[in-house]
Amino acid sequence: MTGSTDHLDVIVVGAGPAGCAAAYDLADAGLSVRLLDRKSFPRPKPCAGAVTVKALKRLRYSIAPVVRYVARDLEVTLRGERVRHFRSRHPVIAMTVREELDTFCLEATRARGADFRITRDIAEIIEDESGVTLVTSEGDSLRAAFIVGADGANSRVRKLIGDARVARAWALEGDVDARSAKALRVTRFDFAQVANGYGWVFPKGDHLNVGLYARSPEAAFGPADVIGYARQVLGTEDVGRIVGHPLGVGGETYAPARRVFLTGDAAGGAEPMLGEGIHNAIKSGQLAAEAIVGEVRGGVDAQTTYRRRLKAIRADLRACAMASDWFYRRQPRGFRGLSNRVARTSLMRGFAAGKTFHDIFWTFPLSPFYAIDPVETLAQFERESGQVASELAITRAG
Ligand SMILES: Cc1cc2nc3c(=O)[nH]c(=O)nc-3n(C[C@H](O)[C@H](O)[C@H](O)COP(=O)(O)OP(=O)(O)OC[C@H]3O[C@@H](n4cnc5c(N)ncnc54)[C@H](O)[C@@H]3O)c2cc1C
Repeated sequence: MTGSTDHLDVIVVGAGPAGCAAAYDLADAGLSVRLLDRKSFPRPKPCAGAVTVKALKRLRYSIAPVVRYVARDLEVTLRGERVRHFRSRHPVIAMTVREELDTFCLEATRARGADFRITRDIAEIIEDESGVTLVTSEGDSLRAAFIVGADGANSRVRKLIGDARVARAWALEGDVDARSAKALRVTRFDFAQVANGYGWVFPKGDHLNVGLYARSPEAAFGPADVIGYARQVLGTEDVGRIVGHPLGVGGETYAPARRVFLTGDAAGGAEPMLGEGIHNAIKSGQLAAEAIVGEVRGGVDAQTTYRRRLKAIRADLRACAMASDWFYRRQPRGFRGLSNRVARTSLMRGFAAGKTFHDIFWTFPLSPFYAIDPVETLAQFERESGQVASELAITRAG
């Protein structure tokens, strides 16, 4: 990896959405940044790749080149019955394939000045008064003023600094060739498809991504259940590449250490209701970067800044945790609450405006007045594809 003489401003471990967001802003501010990942890119990452408007608004650049479909309308059911249509005049989700999204973001981050390297296993993280040293299993060491742990739900950085607070959710996903699926071209959520969770179908142009999510790691489902779900909603058992992965949840209790900041799933940043994690990964990465730049450039204690700035994420995670407790424990009443006309309209307007769940919950009477600002990714996608999202999905599916 490197010799022990290097002294950097920041080492970022993990080049997913959290790590790239942090490294991008750190490099942009002129700090020396080493971005480490144990994998070379492109690499697969189990994820449905749905990027919400609030996440798109956070990104410093357009990701239009890797958007495959833009969803405006959602179909939401309780175990395939009681179908409710959540409609929006404006886009609410950009569908991507994570392998493509992550490679695109990594390239943008490297172009901004972050030095990307593949790392061996990390054996030790030693923090002292003036900095922090990372030691690999081969004995290489690297020293920096700060480390950003962005290495996902199974975070090695988190384990090495002895932070055991993060809980886990679980999800499994696979792909169905759009030609072999019956004509479902909508973004669909089937709640109660599994205990404490839901099934999804997300269009990606030439294929559909199908999967199952549960907000607890004891989820009693496996690949056969994903295949059964695909048979039920898409009329095919031909599901390729079924993979599962935990999600890091419970970040409402996370408090940063002095020089090692956890971000994204490593900090429990995925919300437990739907398992959306990309938004908080990007946001926490950017907040960690902002705090570090403040200390390196202006001498303002980064730990205090990061802890304070995380308040908004913690509030949102708490709201999502309360809502998901209420929702999943009270089916079908929870489903009725979610899908009544007022909730549907507020949620869709809030999603299109890029609001967090917390903000929608506390301001839903104002939802008709939420401003829908232009988002460059969505504008570029429409300009370059020359088609509205639904037409594009059908065309690509042939
Ligand atoms: C099946 C599934 C579907 C999902 N669908 C969605 C969705 O549609 N929308 C959404 O918003 N969220 C979704 N999520 C959640 C989302 O994937 C995560 O919340 C998000 O990826 C977290 O980003 P991150 O950067 O924190 O971590 P990750 O994306 O997990 O990135 C971590 C990076 O760290 C690297 N790494 C790991 N360990 C080490 C190590 N020891 N040393 C060096 N590098 C290491 C990994 O290779 C990886 O590149 C889904 C999750 C799953 C499991």
